[in-house]
Amino acid sequence: MGLAALALTFMLGAAKKDERGVRVLLGEISQPVMLDGKELKVQSKRKAQNFNGKVQVEPRDGKLWIQGKDVGASLKISGSGPISANGKSYHGGLRIEKVEGHFLMINILGLEDYLAGVVKNEMSVKWPMEALKAQTILARTYALGRMEQPRTEFYDLFSTVEDQVYSGMDAEAEESWKAIKDTRGEVLFYQGKPAQVYYHSCCGGWTEPVEYVWGGSGNPYLTAVKCDYCQDCPYYFWRYPDQSALSGQELANRLGYQGETVSEARVADLSPGQRVIKLELKFQSGYKTMISGNDFRVRLGREVIRSTLFKVEKVPEGFIVFGSGSGHGVGLCQWGAKGMAEAGKSCQQILEYYFPGAEIKKAD
Ligand SMILES: [Zn+2]
Repeated sequence: MGLAALALTFMLGAAKKDERGVRVLLGEISQPVMLDGKELKVQSKRKAQNFNGKVQVEPRDGKLWIQGKDVGASLKISGSGPISANGKSYHGGLRIEKVEGHFLMINILGLEDYLAGVVKNEMSVKWPMEALKAQTILARTYALGRMEQPRTEFYDLFSTVEDQVYSGMDAEAEESWKAIKDTRGEVLFYQGKPAQVYYHSCCGGWTEPVEYVWGGSGNPYLTAVKCDYCQDCPYYFWRYPDQSALSGQELANRLGYQGETVSEARVADLSPGQRVIKLELKFQSGYKTMISGNDFRVRLGREVIRSTLFKVEKVPEGFIVFGSGSGHGVGLCQWGAKGMAEAGKSCQQILEYYFPGAEIKKAD
């Protein structure tokens, strides 16, 4: 952890937390794990053992075993360089903790090293540098927010889409390291506090106020922003199904109304970002109901109904869903960030556009 990042931590009043690094849950281990690294120190509650190279840790009968010896239920693994676990390499150290009968493997590492394992998973490193820098600042801001509000007492973040996709050193790339170094210590702030940040693939023309997606009272900088920069996204316009139409019966079944046939599907409520909040369904049986835009999306499949920015059109063969964009629509539109960077905008201009009123602050 560099001095700049350390200074930032003092500013956030979280020095203790930063000293321990970011704690990322890699997953549960139920099979033996092969660890490898230089000057490995494997510490249990009872003793520390040193290994140079490979050592296998086996979870069995509710305990951890090394070379046939029971070493207890929790281990701290450090080394003089990266450590690999089953062939995947990580900066920092590893920890194995028994939580509610399961062995969890956690990677504890410096914030900037963590970002190097995230950025490429969240945005293509072939995209322009200013877009990558905007993504990096958001990933850093998000991680700091989670360090303040950890997922559990054992770790701060998941390594999956529930937080940010982290895959250790496998995800490292020259471009993401450049974006990390060029923005070292930079965080998005709103009124003196790190902002609550979200990002999504493509907004389809308007971003969405946060309260329309996850409830709550909203946030002034997570509002509906008109976006003219994401038209290059392959999902800027989509339709479902790709060809022909869904029959009224198929639509009813897919939405969970077995034995019914949809005769009308009408948008009953739209958000400020033009997304479907409520849809009224009428069935041939005379039954009527309301369904949320999000339930409609989830039941038909998030991978085909890519956003709630859609309309349902009735055709003689049934129904066609026409939509725009991909993802929840809150915060940064990634394809929009790409478009803005290609139009010559800086990462600062990009973030101030999608998070109006928020600003980037550097600690040093
Ligand atoms: Zn957009």
